[in-house]
Amino acid sequence: MNPKRSEVQEKECNKIQELTKRLYQNHTLLDEELIEILQCEQEDALEFLYQYARQVREKYYGKKVYTRGLIEFTNYCRNNCYYCGIRCENRKIDRYRLHKEEIYQCAKEGYALGFRTFVLQGGEDAYYTKEKLGEIICYLKDHYPDCALTLSFGEWEQEAYQYWYDCGADRYLLRHETADESHYKMLHPEKMSFVHRKECLKLLKQIGYQVGSGFMVGSPGQTIELLICDLRYLETLQPHMVGIGPFIPQADTPFAASKAGTLLMTRKLLSILRLMFPKTLLPATTALGTIHPNGRELGILSGANVVMPNLSPTDVREKYLLYDNKIHSGFESAQYREKLAMQMKQIGYELSIERGDSLM
Ligand code: SAH
Repeated sequence: MNPKRSEVQEKECNKIQELTKRLYQNHTLLDEELIEILQCEQEDALEFLYQYARQVREKYYGKKVYTRGLIEFTNYCRNNCYYCGIRCENRKIDRYRLHKEEIYQCAKEGYALGFRTFVLQGGEDAYYTKEKLGEIICYLKDHYPDCALTLSFGEWEQEAYQYWYDCGADRYLLRHETADESHYKMLHPEKMSFVHRKECLKLLKQIGYQVGSGFMVGSPGQTIELLICDLRYLETLQPHMVGIGPFIPQADTPFAASKAGTLLMTRKLLSILRLMFPKTLLPATTALGTIHPNGRELGILSGANVVMPNLSPTDVREKYLLYDNKIHSGFESAQYREKLAMQMKQIGYELSIERGDSLM
């Protein structure tokens, strides 16, 4: 081994360890310090970071991994986000909507499997009016009062958010996607605005939802400096949950030829987020499970504490294609809960059957 190179490595390793300890103590670092961690590619230095992140998640959440049953109830969408496979201009996908009875059936199966949180996720589909979605929320909260209900349905008026909250919805996931105005414009058509997205997040918090935000890792045009903007924005928002996962190109979008985000960068960010927001809920996402066969386990080993298996009916799973090769049969599906439990056990964690509210 070249002794000079190992000296450099040793120095970097010490620096990352020092930064990790400070992030652990103060929950924040200077921009240039965060950049140093995000630029580090040395496995042994990063192992130290992941280990601290696990220590913090275990302090608050023990070895529990919370599960959410994801019901993708519509792939119709009025928006045209350049990265997303269900954007309205994608004429190649087969559109579907779940009938309320189908949604109830998903929840019934999910409940029997041990899920105590249901996530209703969909494109922004005006077919589900305030009242229609309200009826579904009321039914689910009525039949499963011990479960939490999460919505992930995009940007709507205050009135609708309030109505769904009054119907019993507990949580809302709305990733901010990027906290930089011009990057936001690169990823979305003109008529979508970051200002409006931020207003929605503020509103949701004011109403009383447990709010989740987040972003894609490695989205086209994203730089390390832009990631720092995302972290700073999250510091001001103080969300109860942060969903991050690698960007993955989808063939029928303008970003079809763009590169996917990496496992390494996602792991570093998960650990940083855990240390910045010790009590936040942090999912190891489906996208992470898609880019690497052990992506979800490695996410958990970096400080994540939530997994969101798919509860959608099997015949529609392949139609909710946000990105290519999305895992939609096998381990990620809810019917494989037992296998998931085994996978978690193998890495020293256990699937929880609690509602899994945020401690924030
Ligand atoms: N309509 C809802 C739900 C969107 S889908 C909303 O606007 O919030 C959920 C998330 O999937 C998005 O927030 C986005 O961050 C992610 N996503 C979309 N396309 C993706 C892609 N190509 N690769 C990785 N993640 C993607």
